[in-house]
Order: sequence, then C-alpha cells, then structure tokens
Amino acid sequence: MNIRNNHGKFETRAIHAGQTSDPQNGAVMTPIYLTSTFEQDAPAVPRDGYEYSRTKNPTRLALEENVASMEGANWGLCFASGLSATNALLDSLLPGDHVVCGNDLYGGTHRIFRQVFERYGIRFSFVDTTDAKNVAAAMEPATKMVYLETPTNPLLRLSDIAAIAEISRKGKARLIVDNTFATPYLQNPMELGADVVLHSMTKYLGGHSDAVAGALVGNDEELFDSYAFFQNSCGGGLDAMSSFLIMRGTKTLALRMDRHCANAMKIAQMLEAHDAVDKVFYPGLASHPQHELAKRQMRDFGGMVAFEMKGGVEAGNTFASSTRFFTLAESLGGVESLVETPPSMTHAAIPAAERHAAGLADGLVRLSVGVEHVDDLIEDVQQALAKATSTVNAS
Ligand SMILES: *Cc1c(COP(=O)(O)O)cnc(C)c1O
Repeated sequence: MNIRNNHGKFETRAIHAGQTSDPQNGAVMTPIYLTSTFEQDAPAVPRDGYEYSRTKNPTRLALEENVASMEGANWGLCFASGLSATNALLDSLLPGDHVVCGNDLYGGTHRIFRQVFERYGIRFSFVDTTDAKNVAAAMEPATKMVYLETPTNPLLRLSDIAAIAEISRKGKARLIVDNTFATPYLQNPMELGADVVLHSMTKYLGGHSDAVAGALVGNDEELFDSYAFFQNSCGGGLDAMSSFLIMRGTKTLALRMDRHCANAMKIAQMLEAHDAVDKVFYPGLASHPQHELAKRQMRDFGGMVAFEMKGGVEAGNTFASSTRFFTLAESLGGVESLVETPPSMTHAAIPAAERHAAGLADGLVRLSVGVEHVDDLIEDVQQALAKATSTVNAS
C-alpha cells in the first residue's frame, strides 16, 4: 500500500496520512462515499480498482492508510468491528493449527476463540503471558500464532512484546498484538517485533462512542493478501459512514490521550490511598507488578483503571450504580467517563472458574477515565466510594 501523505511525526500523520483533498472540488475532508458500486470505464476495467464497496471504498481506504501510518506500518485493513478483525485473523488458520494466547483477554476475544474457532479444530492455549517463559513453554510445532493483549482488559497486565516476539520468531509463529488499550500514540508493537497489530477502533481511535470498528495493520504483503481476501470474501469490511467517524476521531487521538492519561493517573493515585479500596490496577503506579516494563514499552500509562473494594461484589456494584459523571456502560475509550463491573458485564462470557483462575475477582470495577475536568471526576469517585462503603456497612 502506498500511504498518501505519510510524513511527519505522530500528531501530524494522525491528521494527514491517507487524507487528500477532493481533486474535483477541493473538499478538505474525505467525503463519505455512500455508494455500493462504481462505474467502470470498460467491462472489467474499474477506475482506480474501485468496483464494489465490500471490496474497496475510498472513505475506508483513507482510514486504512491513516491507521497504518499511526502504527508505522505499511498496510491497514478496516473491519466492521474489532471482533470482525479478529475473525479475519482466525479465518487464515486451518484445522489442527495452534494458537498461544493470553489468559486475560477481552471477553469477546475469549468467546470467538473458544466458542467459534475451537469448533473448527483450531486449538488455543491460554497462558499467563506476563511471564514470557510461559509462552515459550506453550509453543508447539503447529503453533501458527501468538496472540497478546497488553495492557490487558480488564486487569491492565503487561506482557513483554519484544521478548515474546523473539519467542514467536523462533517458533515460526506470527505475533499479533491487540493494541486497543494503549493506542498507537502510547505503544507501537511492530517496532518491538510484532507482525500484526489489531485495534478495536470503537474505543480510543474513534474516541466518541459513536461507531463500532476494527483494524489490522502490518508490513508483510503475504499477510495483507490473506487478510484482504477474508475481508472481501467474508464481508467484514467497514462501511463508509463509520470510516468517516473513526477518521474524525484519530485526528485528535494525541490530544485526547494526554488528558486520559493525566486524569487516570490522578484517579489511580487517589484510589490507592483510599481506605475503602483493597487493590488498584494501573500500570502507572509504582505498585503495579509490571511498572518497569510499562515505562520501557509505553510512552504513558493509558486511561483505564481497575480496582477492587474491600466490600467485595456488593460494594463494587453499589459503586458502579452511584457515580454521576461515570456512566454505567460497557465499552471504553470515549471522551466521556464510563464505569462497569467486568465479571457480570464485558467478561460474563468467560466461565467463573476460568475468571477466578486468571485473577479476575467478582468484585472488580473498571473505569474508563474520560477527558472531563479531573476535579469533577475525583469528587464523583469519592462520593460513590463513600456510598458503597456505607451501604455495605449497613447490611
Ligand atoms: C472492545 C475490544 C475488542 C473488540 O472490539 P469490538 O469493536 O467491540 O468488536 C477487542 N479487544 C479489546 C481489548 C477490546 O477492548
């Protein structure tokens, strides 16, 4: 892929890469090409390769170049959701192929692995990837793919991308990193040796909770051909309208992430010092088990914070129902703050025994810290903690 306007530093490329003014009228913003089909110059002679929007659409192409550029990759492919991107990855595997993956993954990723692709004879080993040795131990001759999330959803655990890239290379397996939580502004897995980066662009890249979208980016042309084939053959390509919305989001990613990170750090510190809180999970805290790796591998620590209250499930549920600015909802990465309880919401598809084995307590609360004024967010968290504590004490 020849990425248009792929120049400058991150903030500049996020705004310009893949974007060109309209040659006919100079429109500065990429138009939303709401067309299913394209006029051909002669039978089987499409103009610029455009014949049908499932296969190729100008608005989607602009976003594909944009997201590839942000990750420093050669190509990008955009899908109808993050899971549709995961689906295209897995479509390339055959029965008997083996995948080594983390044991603390997004609930939907766990579900598509266990409940969809295991039925087709693809095998998955779920291991604690925070220790690269566990990945090495799980590798088999049939291992085609190593699949990491770092930081993980919801426990914010980190895995050493460079070390695991080395292990994957030795085992002739492709390393895929789900970079949704960090975003390309904070972490670039391909620079550390990953073959493919996956994004749920529904989250920070879109940034406004108004579109569902996913992406794969990489350098290897063979992988591009394979995933583009599945994008077209299985029909998971992103539509023009959503492509436009995500592209509007990526332009301000750097600005938003700076504020998400600053706000999340302050909230994590406040939670850690609070009497009602038992444990806080945030890579920016010195108490985080992979804090040193976070400093090495990421530019900042992100906008997601998880915690457990001393009052357990009941306190956590009361907290999540008592906030004013943190809306009780799934998803993350938008400008507005959200709160949820992963075991009963985003991660309910994972059986309880597996959740517990992975260290995911039933009382866990997850915050997606938005870009509101931090004083308002802190006050909101404090009043909800107080309410949750008094409810538990009273019962
Ligand atoms: C949301 C999410 C996904 C799935 O993306 P969708 O756009 O919801 O399909 C994958 N990985 C992570 C880390 C996510 O948070």
